[in-house]
Amino acid sequence: VVGIGDDCGVLAIPPRHQLLVTTDFTLEGVHFRREWYPAAVVGHRCLTRGLSDIAAMGGDPIAAFLSLALPRTLPQTWVDGFLEGLLRLASEFRVTLAGGDTAESPDGVLADIMVVGSVPMGEAILRSGARPGDQIYVTGELGGSSAALEELSARRRIRPLLYPRFLRPVPRVVVGRVLRQGGLASAMIDLSDGLSTDLAHICAASGVGARILAASIPRAVVGRTSIRVDLPKSLHGGEDYELLFTAPRAKRIPLRIAGIPVSPIGQVTRGKRLLLIDEKGAETPLHPRGWQHFSASWAR
Ligand SMILES: [Mg+2]
Repeated sequence: VVGIGDDCGVLAIPPRHQLLVTTDFTLEGVHFRREWYPAAVVGHRCLTRGLSDIAAMGGDPIAAFLSLALPRTLPQTWVDGFLEGLLRLASEFRVTLAGGDTAESPDGVLADIMVVGSVPMGEAILRSGARPGDQIYVTGELGGSSAALEELSARRRIRPLLYPRFLRPVPRVVVGRVLRQGGLASAMIDLSDGLSTDLAHICAASGVGARILAASIPRAVVGRTSIRVDLPKSLHGGEDYELLFTAPRAKRIPLRIAGIPVSPIGQVTRGKRLLLIDEKGAETPLHPRGWQHFSASWAR
């Protein structure tokens, strides 16, 4: 209703809906390096983080709020590029940039994005709804961003053809909405920190365990020579921004939703254990190996 330029933004919420609110930091030196990423890519990925959280609830995004702290020496062209990347993605999802703040940063770019969305009353898909016997699914393919990041760390420059989804990940808002409208998913999370870590979040919130079939994980194909990423990257690599969800066996889950492949990768179990089943049927514990962003690999 009222965007940037007044003391507050004024948002209209559809009747009988609940608000979804999420905030995410994007920090230079933690989430990106200015030398390695075009500014527009940083802006795009900044908003993706928020939109992906709205998608994970089955919601519809409405508006974004951006607080930016910028070093005095930062060229204006960088800020323009950042906003261009962010606003292009915002318009794709009909999200209004409805407010924010700017300040001077003593060191490095700090961006805090807040995204507001809505979902019909009581229909938000939570992490806590998984039940023993449910099937576990993921959208898209996993490990591609981790592989692209490894390449980037080694070569210190961007090679856009390597894995476009790393640079401009499209949040799975449409898939999340379809799952919510169809009443298909019992629990859902977006894959920002890696399958092993995000699955552990669902299991902890739902009080359940999981068995994951290694051979069923859709591993990303990257690079000019179309190499499939290794299993550890698909299990632990972050920033894929795909959706991980569970569904009761009785629900028929399409193999593709809105053009995005959906793969069954295992089952929810009683107890608390997360197990990985290899091709010979052998079980090993699946430990969450959380995404450390890439500060660790830079610390050398
Ligand atoms: Mg999330």
